[in-house]
Amino acid sequence: MAAPCAEMEPAAAPRSPGAEELVCPRGRNRKTVLCQRCGSRVLLPGAATFARRELFLPSMKKKTALLASNSLDGDVLQDHWLVDDMFSFENIGFTKDVGNVKFLICADCEIGPIGWHCLDDKKSFYIALDRVSHE
Ligand SMILES: [Zn+2]
Repeated sequence: MAAPCAEMEPAAAPRSPGAEELVCPRGRNRKTVLCQRCGSRVLLPGAATFARRELFLPSMKKKTALLASNSLDGDVLQDHWLVDDMFSFENIGFTKDVGNVKFLICADCEIGPIGWHCLDDKKSFYIALDRVSHE
């Protein structure tokens, strides 16, 4: 498991299939970022920048199950949308703190985590490309 607050890797090409067409030449998201489950809008086009960083996210669950579970089921994800201000989100929810980390969840259906935020860095909110839809 990657250290929660490790330094970000230098910018690099996205690894996820199809990610190239999601990222504009300036490194921003071309498409609207949506919840995979309910379609709630998370980010408008251009609201986030692409960032490579290894982050562990637990498996997708409803918020209540997420908080009840102590299992380490999950994925190390590399490709993220990075936002430096939580007001850049159209809709976003948070879990309560897990250590110094909050997980980002859909504000409407509360499925997650779709993203990651470390309390040590108030200006970094990550949304995993693999955990959201793009339209
Ligand atoms: Zn949702």
